[in-house]
Amino acid sequence: MSDQTQPQFAARHIGPDADAVAHMLDVIGVSSLDELAAKALPARILEPLGTDGAAAGLDALPEPVDEAQALAELRALAESNTVAVSMIGQGYFDTITPAVLRRNILENPAWYTAYTPYQPEISQGRLEALLNFQTMVADLTGLEIANASMLDEATAAAEAMTLMHRAAKGKLNRLVVDTDLYPQTAAVLATRARPLGIEIVTADLTAGLPDGEFFGVIVQLPGASGRLVDWSELVARAHERGALVAVGADLLALTLVTPPGEIGADVAFGTTQRFGVPMGFGGPHAGYLAAHARHARQLPGRLVGVSKDADGSPAYRLALQTREQHIRRDKATSNICTAQVLLAVVAAMYASYHGAEGLTAIARRVHGHARALAAGLTAAGVEVVHRSFFDTVLARVPGRAEAVRAAAKQRGINIWLVDADHVSVACDEVTTAEHVAAVLAAFGAEPVTTDFDGPDIATRTSAFLTHPAFTRYRTETAMMRYLRGLADKDIALDRSMIPLGSCTMKLNAAAEMEPITWPEFGRLHPFAPASDTPGIRRLIADLQNWLAAITGYDAVSLQPNAGSQGEYAGLLAIQAYHAERGEPHRDVCLIPSSAHGTNAASAALAGMRVVVVGCRPNGDVDLDDLRAKIAEHADRLSALMITYPSTHGVYEHDITEICAAVHDAGGQVYVDGANLNALVGLARPGRFGGDVSHLNLHKTFCIPHGGGGPGVGPVAVRAHLAKYLPGHPLAEELPDSPPVSAAPYGSASILPITWMYLRMMGGAGLRRATLVAIAAANYIARRLDESFPVLYTGENGMVAHECILDLRPITKATGVTVDDVAKRLADYGFHAPTMSFPVSGTLMVEPTESESLAELDAFCEAMIAIRREIDRVGSGEWPADDNPLRNAPHTAECLVAAEWNHPYTREEAAYPLGKDFRPKVWPPVRRIDGAYGDRNLVCSCPPVEAFA
Ligand SMILES: *Cc1c(COP(=O)(O)O)cnc(C)c1O
Repeated sequence: MSDQTQPQFAARHIGPDADAVAHMLDVIGVSSLDELAAKALPARILEPLGTDGAAAGLDALPEPVDEAQALAELRALAESNTVAVSMIGQGYFDTITPAVLRRNILENPAWYTAYTPYQPEISQGRLEALLNFQTMVADLTGLEIANASMLDEATAAAEAMTLMHRAAKGKLNRLVVDTDLYPQTAAVLATRARPLGIEIVTADLTAGLPDGEFFGVIVQLPGASGRLVDWSELVARAHERGALVAVGADLLALTLVTPPGEIGADVAFGTTQRFGVPMGFGGPHAGYLAAHARHARQLPGRLVGVSKDADGSPAYRLALQTREQHIRRDKATSNICTAQVLLAVVAAMYASYHGAEGLTAIARRVHGHARALAAGLTAAGVEVVHRSFFDTVLARVPGRAEAVRAAAKQRGINIWLVDADHVSVACDEVTTAEHVAAVLAAFGAEPVTTDFDGPDIATRTSAFLTHPAFTRYRTETAMMRYLRGLADKDIALDRSMIPLGSCTMKLNAAAEMEPITWPEFGRLHPFAPASDTPGIRRLIADLQNWLAAITGYDAVSLQPNAGSQGEYAGLLAIQAYHAERGEPHRDVCLIPSSAHGTNAASAALAGMRVVVVGCRPNGDVDLDDLRAKIAEHADRLSALMITYPSTHGVYEHDITEICAAVHDAGGQVYVDGANLNALVGLARPGRFGGDVSHLNLHKTFCIPHGGGGPGVGPVAVRAHLAKYLPGHPLAEELPDSPPVSAAPYGSASILPITWMYLRMMGGAGLRRATLVAIAAANYIARRLDESFPVLYTGENGMVAHECILDLRPITKATGVTVDDVAKRLADYGFHAPTMSFPVSGTLMVEPTESESLAELDAFCEAMIAIRREIDRVGSGEWPADDNPLRNAPHTAECLVAAEWNHPYTREEAAYPLGKDFRPKVWPPVRRIDGAYGDRNLVCSCPPVEAFA
């Protein structure tokens, strides 16, 4: 039991204390949190409170404990794992995270609590780090343009496939894939190909290309067997036949081996895991995708580009956003939204810290150990199957493979069992001569002094990582200051509330974060023997049980590594269910017009036809239109995807009717669970009509956003869909269905964050968090309504956990836009709310339960002051094209300029509410011209002179 005198964790997680809550309720005009819930939620879905103060399944959670005890319990789970020396390879390699990067990035809230850089003026630090990532990938692969980032290697392969398919204008539907791909990559490719009608032909491409027409070819370098093949001839033949070629390439190997771009390949993909990011039982790690510049507009995912600000200085922002799901919806290049930004930053900084010489030295050492292994095996008469390899040696041991694997295991080393006659052994950054000797001993061999007589693999002649970003930060002092300097440019949760609607930027408590760097989680290989990993498996099982109880569903998969991937997995489950019931033709997915862009993009990827359902003027789904669309598509209806509470920030009262109407027509209901922070402990989608939901552990359940990832997007289903949850070719315990991620349990190493949160909050704490989040949103709605009308409310005038402020009438009357307000908030020291989603010309505010009343009040004060500024523009006192809003944000440089010709003072620009209002944030750049950057696309580090 926790000490009664110690404050419970919930009281630290939830910002407003009892007095503050009482004040908020007073302003809202209700007398209790429960009265608020009763007014906001439909009575039919609101579940009664249990005697233990918990409700809605929360009694399934154990009694909460404080930080120290929760950490002690987790430590016991961690210690039941065995951290063996991993020489399994197969896409996951042990690596050394330089301590300066672990401490200053992974353990630094300035980096891990940031959001996706949609407000580029206050995100220049992480945008620069991501530009370094893109430059690193482009340099190493020899291609012109790289994104930042993909979710893992296998999904990056799938995105390479769809990129090539789009580039071929969809005229052909066959893809040729080499046999020597990692099994998880091949499996995810197969998953993603099927609904798109892409036929995969798998063949040993060292024997040449098969007959027939195809749009693309995918090979791996090195192959899963370790084999290094010169694919240049194959690339030339494929091009002659009009096909594009994608190469799955290991970035460390590319410091030595001729890169894909130089053998003519069109696309490269892979993972950056071994650049300092722990294996973590499968993730998270940043996948990468690089291509020729001519394919820039076909690229999936986020792309950072260089543009200029209002003073003409270089500035970074996200480029070509019109490709992405939030704008193009079902026509987008991908459904990816949350990516792997934090891990991309680590990988980029790993490259900066080591530089080209350091990375090459690591690669040579790794290769040297592999050669030593091959030499020892050869000397002992063991056949080494491929003479050309980088880090992985494939040995033929007829009938003895299992015995060799077991002998290595006895020596504390995991190697890879390929089949009864073969094992492979992968070397990595942590491999030592002792490891090599121990593995040789497992074969009954021993180290020799002669070199392996295989070919010299060091065929790369081109330079890479020559930009100062990769030469300047080689000392720890320089790297520490570089990271500090970048972080100081940004607003993350360590400086201000981030009231981003739909994103749930709540506290990511330090005690929740601590376990993720424990080696007992970090150094687990996802394909390690199950006997090595009982602790993390137990943690996974706990989470599955708790999340099922919270959502009211029967089964949960933690494999999807972002919300978008959970959506995709959920829709595949629905499609599989219809198919098995003899209704494979059901392919229509109804999606309300207010939905998040990922919904439509995921439906398209699942092979579904998107039919948009309109909304009523009050923001609710238009029931008449819904019924009409259901009738129109009756026998083809597959599913409705609906977000609850809606993206309009209200609990629609018709939700049960809506779900029933879909079920009556034979459809399934997908409840987008991104807004679960408004439901936990009050209502459960699995009980009020949902068949399947995804959750965003990086929203509701405290995994930090990391500047745009990592995330975890579990998919939860009712019993009839359980057998269609994602499977995995290397995890027998999972359902026998196709995988959606490279690793069986996705981004497993960050699951301890959510485990800690649930363990420390307990049922009653979680329920209170939800209620306070709703109270905070309603409080802000009341306080700001007079200045910025709240667009939508529910039946009793209540909003859910977020509210939309309508600026359109203000813009019409004064010319001041949402952009102006968002940028001006930076001058006040705040991060802007969500801009123009889901309604163009509005701001969506989500305060969460973690912000104190003082912070909520400060935000309201800033917004009200901005409204007064707008009025001065409206009245003509300030010209529409020269006022503190239009000129925001203001940099220190623009304020110290000798001349100041604006109709407002420098003080009004920088300290609109005085010097004591809150700590000043100095945006490093002025308003950025995004369109200029899209017209003049630059997506790698600009020369240093550009900043002169
Ligand atoms: C965030 C969000 C998603 C997508 O989740 P990702 O993890 O970013 O892929 C989907 N729907 C809604 C309503 C969201 O807010």
